[in-house]
Amino acid sequence: MADQVASCFEVLDPRFERLFVGTARLDLLHAGCRWAEGPAYFPAGRYLVWSDIPNNRMLRFDECSNAVSVFRQPSGNSNGNTVDQQGRLVTCEHGNRRVSRTEIDGSVTTLADSYDGKRLNSPNDVVVKFDGSLWFTDPTYGIDSDYEGCKGESEQKANRVYRIDPQSGALSVVADDFVQPNGIAFSPDESLLYIVDTGRSHRKDGPQHIRRFNVGNGGKISGGEVFAKSSAGFFDGLRLDDEGRIWTSAGDGVHCYDPDGTLIGKILVPEVVANVCFGGPKRNYLYICGTTALYGVRLPVTGARTF
Ligand code: MG
Repeated sequence: MADQVASCFEVLDPRFERLFVGTARLDLLHAGCRWAEGPAYFPAGRYLVWSDIPNNRMLRFDECSNAVSVFRQPSGNSNGNTVDQQGRLVTCEHGNRRVSRTEIDGSVTTLADSYDGKRLNSPNDVVVKFDGSLWFTDPTYGIDSDYEGCKGESEQKANRVYRIDPQSGALSVVADDFVQPNGIAFSPDESLLYIVDTGRSHRKDGPQHIRRFNVGNGGKISGGEVFAKSSAGFFDGLRLDDEGRIWTSAGDGVHCYDPDGTLIGKILVPEVVANVCFGGPKRNYLYICGTTALYGVRLPVTGARTF
């Protein structure tokens, strides 16, 4: 049994009242990270892999035993992770400035490390679409210093969002009008794409918001209006539930938005939260990467299928 933190739900709109159970508690699953990020759940094995970026390692939480072990070290200062339709781990690596895939035999393949003949910045977060394409963000956090990657120069003209074609493996630009693109997630039917911009980390009046795009064919998106502005620190990573609500990390925990853009409630966490991921056999357990710890909470809500 995991340690439990006191009840943690804050209702800001009546619609949030049915999205939690009053007796549920926040489980403290593991402590001792420096900057926990990138949770990815493997349903076949019932375990979670996540990144501890500055410590250059990935950790593994076994849902059946509560055991935590080192999954990979060094990890290339991995950040965001996801699981593709074949059950393979896809990883954004700050240190190696690439997106990689861990194959079924355990070998690691580079999927993308350059665009237009120049190195990527430091891929941050990645999501898989039903057609097998991979979409990822490429801000500069992993090359700004040696803290969470390798200090280096940006070779790109913009901090973009990219798509990896599932057939050819070719990289194409999805969006190039972000300051620091960060978390990324599709709506359950993939008609909408949500992308976080954490540009305020680098510009005094820069964005700390989520934008929403309409998804067209062949990797095209349109729209891109501001969906939500953070009221508490930065949004970073985000996931959707199967009714299209957005569960996003924030400075005081996890914020839940209705698809109409209303902040309807929060899960308060004792630390800054960087990312979240639905897991468990029924996808109703929300894993939460706080700064130094992995938390989780059981919800009466089901996460959207991500593959
Ligand atoms: Mg991120």
